[in-house]
This record gives sequence, C-alpha cells and structure tokens, in this order.
Amino acid sequence: MSTAKAITGARIFDGASWHEDAALVFAGGKIEAIRPRTELSAGVETVDAGGGFVAPGFIDLQVNGGGGVLLNEEPTVAGLVRICAAHAKFGTTGLLPTLITDTFEITARTVEAGRQAKAQDVPGFLGLHLEGPHLSVARKGAHDPKLIRPMEEKDVELMLSCKGRFDAMMITIAPENVTTAQAARLAEAGFVVSLGHTDTTYEAARDYAAAGVRTVTHLFNAMSPLGHRQPGVVGAALDIGSLHAGLIADGVHVHPVAMGVALRSKTGPGRIFIVTDAMSPIGTDMTSFTLNGREILRRDGRLTLADGTLAGADIDMISSVRFVHETLGLPLEEALRMASAYPAEAARLSGRKGALKPGHDADFVLLTDGLGMKSTWIGGTKVHQE
Ligand SMILES: [Zn+2]
Repeated sequence: MSTAKAITGARIFDGASWHEDAALVFAGGKIEAIRPRTELSAGVETVDAGGGFVAPGFIDLQVNGGGGVLLNEEPTVAGLVRICAAHAKFGTTGLLPTLITDTFEITARTVEAGRQAKAQDVPGFLGLHLEGPHLSVARKGAHDPKLIRPMEEKDVELMLSCKGRFDAMMITIAPENVTTAQAARLAEAGFVVSLGHTDTTYEAARDYAAAGVRTVTHLFNAMSPLGHRQPGVVGAALDIGSLHAGLIADGVHVHPVAMGVALRSKTGPGRIFIVTDAMSPIGTDMTSFTLNGREILRRDGRLTLADGTLAGADIDMISSVRFVHETLGLPLEEALRMASAYPAEAARLSGRKGALKPGHDADFVLLTDGLGMKSTWIGGTKVHQE
C-alpha cells in the first residue's frame, strides 16, 4: 500500500458541490475521501496547494494531436505519449487520441499503437477515437474525400479486435456509409458510436440512436443543420434524450449564440460536453502543419486549409472551460462538468472518472480562482506543474 496523500489549502469542487477548508485524500491512484482538514489522520502526507481550487480532471473525447504530433502522421506509442503529455499541461487527465479519415493501413497501425499504449498504461490515454473514414463526402470538412468510403466487414473486424482493450473507444460514422446493423454491432461491443460528418436526416439519426448510437460529434460542425422543416442531425442531437454531443468551445467553430441556444435546449439525460478537436500545434508555437499531405495554416486562433475550410481547433481544455464560463456565462460548476462529468458519462466512464468521489481515479486539476492552470494529477501522480 502506498502512503495516503492529501491536497490542502484549496477549495475542492467534487463535481457537484464545494468543500471549504477540506482535504482531498488519495492513495494507490484512487480517491479515498474529502474530509475536513482538521480530521486528517497523522500518517497522511499533505501537499499545500496555496490557494485556488481543485476540480475533477478534464476528459477530452476528441483530440487529433498536440505537442507537435498529429496522430495521423505519427500513429505510434511515442506519438500517443506526446499527445497525452501536451494536453496534461491544460488540465486534461484522460483523452481519446483521434484519428482523422485515413487509409486502412494507417488505421490498423493506430489501433496497434493504441493497444500497446494501453498495455503500457500511458498516463491519460483512455483509448482511441476513429473519426472516419466512413463519413459523408457532402460534409467532409477537412477530411480527404478520396479516403472516405463505406464501412466493410474488414473495418468492423478491425474495430471489434479492440473490444474490451480500452477504457473507451469512440467511432464517428455517417449513415451514408454505415448501415444501422453495423452501427448496432459496434455499439453492442461497448464502443461509443457517434454520428458526425453527415448530411443525414433527423429521422435517420433517430433510427441510428435506436440502434445504439450514443453521441453526436462536434455539434453543428459538418452536419445537416436545424431547419424548420428538416431538423437534421442538430435537431436530433438536441431533441433525442439519449444522445450526448461534443461541442468545440472556441467561439470560432460555433457562434456563441448558437452554443447558448443549444445548451439551453438540450433534452437530457444526454448532455453537451466540451471537446477540443485540437491538432498538433497545441502546446507549441508552430504556424503550420501537414494533414494527409495538405498544408494547414494556423492564424488568429484558427486552423484552416488553403481554401479557408476549418481543420480542427486551436484550443485546449482549460481555455474552453474559460470560454464557456466567461463568454457564454454558464456557472463555473457547469462549465467544469462540461469538461469532466459529462464526457465521462458519454464515454461510460462515470463509475470511476469525472468526479472526485471515494473510489474514483485520483485524476484532478489545481486551478487558480481566475481559471489559470496550477497543476495536473493523473492517478494520484503530479504530471504537470506550472
Ligand atoms: Zn471532424
């Protein structure tokens, strides 16, 4: 048994309520308790946070890269390590590195790298998100249309080879290139099947939700919009209670007014959660990078192809939380849940992540009262200090 440690000297937000003058006690990578500081037992090693507050670590279900690495360009364990470490600096304690539409060979290499990374327990690595290639060319965004294609049996088998190997695995599909039966097989295997990059109808989206689809990928972006006679995938995401939806909260991908309308109208129990959709430049001063052989430019908080098409986001988790709280005006607690409890629920991880409860993984962030980063802890180990 490792010695118990306790964080003191900071307020604690456990995901539901605040604890003042309390200590967050953890041992063996798990949270033991939140208890009054005066009731700490003698053998506990204390870490004085020196102000600010503790909150559940951020969970990002859509991360294409970071620290100069794009998963598509470096589908290796080393690449996954770099991406996870880059995002830990911004409070992310669990993430799904995301492969954008690519060849079958690159997808297979990524799956193999993911399996090795999980076997090696890479800090922060929860599993993979395969975003394509079974999408709709009509809503391709920055995905290479030449690589978009229907899902075949070999694709299903490759994905099913990951069954039970990750904490979570997410697969973004478009009904245009994936049957409801295929979606149901993937959902039954425990994967988070998500509708995205699709021009499909509200009715089709409802059928896929009934077949086990659980989420919608980056709400509003690359999907049929909410029209008054054609509610589309946006209408489905907001109206169908079982669906959860990711949202890129940079103020560039979605207008703040549309974000606010969506957040106020979402029918539960499914929730809207923050994703970064971050690319390789996060945590670096790179001004351009390459995706499927095409140059992507970084300028004024945007990443774009030469024709101006948005190609992922130039934002990190803590900046997204700040945007939701400060620009959209959501309560701090709700902004924090959108980055922790809600993605944990969407990925079926809420039994052990997304809140600071006894028995949960000791994944947390220490922040200043002004929402600045202080430190990041994964499984009770400090992985980043400002
Ligand atoms: Zn996308």
